[in-house]
Amino acid sequence: MLAAIERHQPAVIFLAYPNNPTGNLFSATAILEIIKAANGLVVIDEAYAPFADASFINALDHYDNLLVMRTVSKLGLAGLRLGYLIGHPLIIEQLHKIRLPYNINSLTQLSADFALSNKALFDRQTQAICAERAVVLKQLNELPGITAYPSAANFILFRTPKGKATDIFMSIKQQGVLIKNMSAQGGLLSDCLRVTIGKPEENKAFLTALMNAK
Ligand SMILES: *Cc1c(COP(=O)(O)O)cnc(C)c1O
Repeated sequence: MLAAIERHQPAVIFLAYPNNPTGNLFSATAILEIIKAANGLVVIDEAYAPFADASFINALDHYDNLLVMRTVSKLGLAGLRLGYLIGHPLIIEQLHKIRLPYNINSLTQLSADFALSNKALFDRQTQAICAERAVVLKQLNELPGITAYPSAANFILFRTPKGKATDIFMSIKQQGVLIKNMSAQGGLLSDCLRVTIGKPEENKAFLTALMNAK
């Protein structure tokens, strides 16, 4: 990435932290090196931050070219359509010029205010999801032929036996459980599926469907 920055001098670099669809956190030291090497802006997309113990918000004081992007979507409020960006006032001031007037409606603003005043409830929910994530990861990795990758998000990416991902995806779907087929994207995602962590009974239904998949 450092070599690519040197060669292309990009105006903007986007990094997802945690990453989607892999769920991993890149090394924070490596990201800091990118921020320091970049002549342009570095936008860290922290959509999945509620499920991770990490953030670049505290680095904002030290790097003027750093912007942190968040959303309330993955907290279970995707219907609000509210995201936010944190960064140096001089950059935010420029972005205000291209923002549409009234781009965030009053009901969304009120709802977000109400939601944030009840943060403890959302924290309990994300903690429950993280606890379930550990259970599902362990059980996935106990299944023959399945390799599940550690995740700092509310989903888990897992690898199925070669050439089997789409059959397994379809079979799980026929059993009433919808997950995400990443295999079609090819490359490193070949043979990979992605499951979103749900309630304990939903996770159980998924694991049962996967075990019975043909
Ligand atoms: C979901 C998601 C977003 C933002 O979603 P919105 O619902 O449009 O706020 C941004 N980045 C990543 C990586 C996401 O998964």
